[in-house]
Amino acid sequence: MAPLSDSPEDRAKQADKIVKNPANYKICEGCDSIIVVKAHTCPNCASYRFEESTAAVIQQARVLGRRERRSVMVSDLQ
Ligand SMILES: [Zn+2]
Repeated sequence: MAPLSDSPEDRAKQADKIVKNPANYKICEGCDSIIVVKAHTCPNCASYRFEESTAAVIQQARVLGRRERRSVMVSDLQ
């Protein structure tokens, strides 16, 4: 059984949560991951350089939320 965090629906929910609370997150400049603002280094690539602007976080969350979707759902077409 695949971990729940790998499902497209959960990715979309995660992206939605980030969009609603962008001040809690930042973007890694090394790998473009979105991580919690309290982290000192990126858990993925160990970078310590981050983009912390809320506008950039929102944009990146939307990009990631779309990218992780594997199939088109009815709600996408509205
Ligand atoms: Zn990184």
